[in-house]
Amino acid sequence: MHELSIAMSIVELAEEYAGKEHAEKVTELEIEVGDFSGVVIDALEFAMEEAVKESICQGAVWKIIPVHPLARCGSCGHTYHPDSLFQPCPACGGYGAEILQGEELRLRSILVE
Ligand SMILES: [Zn+2]
Repeated sequence: MHELSIAMSIVELAEEYAGKEHAEKVTELEIEVGDFSGVVIDALEFAMEEAVKESICQGAVWKIIPVHPLARCGSCGHTYHPDSLFQPCPACGGYGAEILQGEELRLRSILVE
């Protein structure tokens, strides 16, 4: 399962950070997931429950923050919220927009104590 390996690497990152900070436990995690990241949020929630068991993150509260896609048209510079990666620019109909956000999958913040 794709999401489980993602959840495990989030927990690993958190453990690494907690180690550097000499923290005893992780209390809160914020994870940003773009609509275009290919990650299913429900599946990631479920995977996180598994991944935090027996780890320094056990008992931590995690928030998964969806990031809505934003694209900038390469032809006219218009920015818009695309529903898919292949949606043409609504202003000029051009393709080949640059995706500004929506593909991310990252640990935005972490609280330890
Ligand atoms: Zn355009």
